[in-house]
Amino acid sequence: MKVTIKKQVGADVLTFTEDIKNSKELIDFSTNLVFLDRIPKSCTSCKGTSLFLQHRVTKGYDFLEVVCSSCGAKLKIHESKAGPLYIKYDEKFEKFVSKEKDADAPFNPEEDV
Ligand SMILES: [Zn+2]
Repeated sequence: MKVTIKKQVGADVLTFTEDIKNSKELIDFSTNLVFLDRIPKSCTSCKGTSLFLQHRVTKGYDFLEVVCSSCGAKLKIHESKAGPLYIKYDEKFEKFVSKEKDADAPFNPEEDV
């Protein structure tokens, strides 16, 4: 059965359609899109609502992010090893500052409090 899930990202509504064979696949499909619900309605930097999803690869690292097309600020989307993508509760849009070292910085959950 074809299942369609709609998710709002900024001012746009994205439509995802998947051919689902059983309830496990339905839950997986739905779970994999949950991170989209965590994206703020507008850019936390400029309040713009024109947001888009971007995947870029820099020096072998994957960067998944929500980009504000008004000011260019980016919101990080995190990848868990086996599970779906996620966005931290207090994640904010940030303007990109060229610091190549950041990609190698160890993950520190203490910083998120
Ligand atoms: Zn912005």
